Amino acid sequence: MKLSAFGEKFSGQSGIVELMDDLGTALNENPDMIFMGGGNPGRLPEMERIFQQRLETIMSDPAQRHSLFGIYQSPQGDREFRQRLAAFLSKHYGWPVGEENIAVSNGSQSAFFVLFNMLAGEMPDGHRRRIHLPLAPEYIGYADAGLSDNFFSATRPSIERIDTHLFKYHVDFSQLEIDESVAALCVSRPTNPTGNVLTDDEVAHLDSIARASDIPLIIDGAYGLPFPNILFEQATPHWNDNTVLALSLSKLGLPGVRTGILVASEELIKAYTNANTIVSLACGTLGPALARALFDSGEILSLSRDYVTPFYRERSRQAVAWCEEFLGDLPWHVHKPEGAIFLWLWFEGLPISSQALYQRLKQRGVLVVPGHNFFVGMDDDWQHKHECIRVSYAQDAARVREGIGIIAEEVHRAYRED
Ligand code: PLP
Repeated sequence: MKLSAFGEKFSGQSGIVELMDDLGTALNENPDMIFMGGGNPGRLPEMERIFQQRLETIMSDPAQRHSLFGIYQSPQGDREFRQRLAAFLSKHYGWPVGEENIAVSNGSQSAFFVLFNMLAGEMPDGHRRRIHLPLAPEYIGYADAGLSDNFFSATRPSIERIDTHLFKYHVDFSQLEIDESVAALCVSRPTNPTGNVLTDDEVAHLDSIARASDIPLIIDGAYGLPFPNILFEQATPHWNDNTVLALSLSKLGLPGVRTGILVASEELIKAYTNANTIVSLACGTLGPALARALFDSGEILSLSRDYVTPFYRERSRQAVAWCEEFLGDLPWHVHKPEGAIFLWLWFEGLPISSQALYQRLKQRGVLVVPGHNFFVGMDDDWQHKHECIRVSYAQDAARVREGIGIIAEEVHRAYRED
């Protein structure tokens, strides 16, 4: 089979593909694996019940059922859903948005693919532009999304040591250099993998830099504001017409329905919609049909606040307590868990690489993600990249505790062997 450059790049072995294969194989070989690797949300019975009721209502009404199964939606997404979401965002946050500022996608991952490649890569004048990540480590899913090489660049964060075991990354504005070759800034808030939440000041500063450079600021709110609100710190939702806010229904408990949402200027949404027509033809109907009613009533906020946020807040607290219990006085650090569904553990001076630690843990039946994969766009040699792992705490509490216990045994062993 002769493949194009696109074919070679996208069908080949990229980091994320290898990692997902490896995780899949490991799970097939050992179904009892403690799965702390992926981004699957936890199971929340209250949310499942609400989605079930909503689906039953749709199924029992022939007209709604037909529009769910039998009609292509526009490539911009279900109009009523966009209207209701726009009204919700205007009412609660005062954002001047209408249906024309909103596009639906088949999962936010695919929206990122189209968006990134629309903005960066080879420009019509032959110059190349890239997406800049003002604070890496960042979401692994961006890493291979560019159609060309060297698609991302990143700024190394500054590290605030809060106490012996707690630290926090900050955007190092003194090192953030934006030139003509930067097409957009992109941040996830809360950040996958670290659970960092950029402060309102950091967001305002990034916003002003983006405006001054005439480039968009992309905020990936897959875990964030206004929903699913997996945040344990006070933070203000941010949007203006220079912002592209990407949202998702996945972490509310609906990763299977593949619904992402972009909120952006009308110009950008139009361009995105045209591109999305070529890629997807139309958007899936299930996510919008399930969530539509939640916007009018504002229920999307109360559900997030009453069920989603407390579940992850409590689980993150427990997970840190288990780290304290099992990792003891090793040189371990955890990024202050401010949101999302992961602990980002840093083992300072770890005598083996995080990749080797990942392999050893896999042998012991625990799946995590080795940290170096998340330093997207950062080529420099920084030992820190090889000293971190990402651990999901979304699964069953007893299994998470057991997993942290095994991680601690392997980390103890690694330091002992040194
Ligand atoms: N952005 C972040 C930060 C994520 O963690 C994920 C998934 O885990 C996505 C985007 C993509 O999510 P989805 O395609 O399910 O909307």
